[in-house]
Amino acid sequence: MAQGRGWEGAVLKLMRAKDFTLTVTGAEDVTPHYRRLHLTDGGLLAATGVHPTMWVRLWFADAGKPHQRAYTLVDPDPAAGTFRLEFALHAGAASDWARTAKPGDTIEATVQGTGFEQPAPAPSHVLAVGGPASLPAINSLLGALGSAPATVWFEGGADDLPLRVDPVRHEVRRVPRREAGAALVDRVKAELPDLLTATPHPYVWIACDTRTTRTLSAHVRRDLGVPKERTHALGYWRAG
Ligand SMILES: Cc1cc2nc3c(=O)[nH]c(=O)nc-3n(C[C@H](O)[C@H](O)[C@H](O)COP(=O)(O)OP(=O)(O)OC[C@H]3O[C@@H](n4cnc5c(N)ncnc54)[C@H](O)[C@@H]3O)c2cc1C
Repeated sequence: MAQGRGWEGAVLKLMRAKDFTLTVTGAEDVTPHYRRLHLTDGGLLAATGVHPTMWVRLWFADAGKPHQRAYTLVDPDPAAGTFRLEFALHAGAASDWARTAKPGDTIEATVQGTGFEQPAPAPSHVLAVGGPASLPAINSLLGALGSAPATVWFEGGADDLPLRVDPVRHEVRRVPRREAGAALVDRVKAELPDLLTATPHPYVWIACDTRTTRTLSAHVRRDLGVPKERTHALGYWRAG
């Protein structure tokens, strides 16, 4: 299966990655730039189990070449063998595939690298930074961390994106995407310190474009002194 996917595929194969064929069963345009697909899992969930913020590597074709991109499972149901995938649409082979995907279409998925560590002690306040690409993961994270209050800095995207927030416990602070993420960095740097000091067991979760993620995670760890085990930072996309 790794054949034809170049070294990336070969390395994954050597690492005993698990490969599955997903089949599209339905599609919804949630907004003009955000599309949800319904899929059957080809045995994936039964074989690998499920954890919060779980993601898979999907194999798209880009001008005939293999093109691997990560997507987050939405509402995985191991008993039914189904989940959804939500695509923030922009230029790109993954987005292009999602735009036209229809029932009966298939896509290969590899499970490798995904994981989740439940923070202990449980967070007294979740401080999350992301945007449309990490929206499914933010929803999953907030669902997994139970009753903790959360502040979410959400960069870009339309107001009617399907964030699953509880208005009593969760506050969403919307930030326009400007200057390649600099507006988000400034806003988080200005607002995070007070929230960190106001709570005993904060947990900081960051999933923006790679550069913004690196800048913010370095700030949180080095400048604000948040221990590594109380932070999670992963770049979700690379700005062009
Ligand atoms: C663990 C993980 C989970 C993820 N889960 C999801 C998910 O559930 N839903 C989702 O939509 N994305 C998710 N992403 C992000 C997704 O993998 C990337 O956005 C990916 O680059 C999309 O591939 P593409 O082929 O469409 O575009 P690419 O070929 O990678 O890029 C094409 C162009 O689009 C730009 N671009 C890429 N991504 C974005 C973006 N998000 N916003 C604006 N411009 C962009 C690039 O800068 C480039 O100019 C996840 C990423 C990670 C690491």
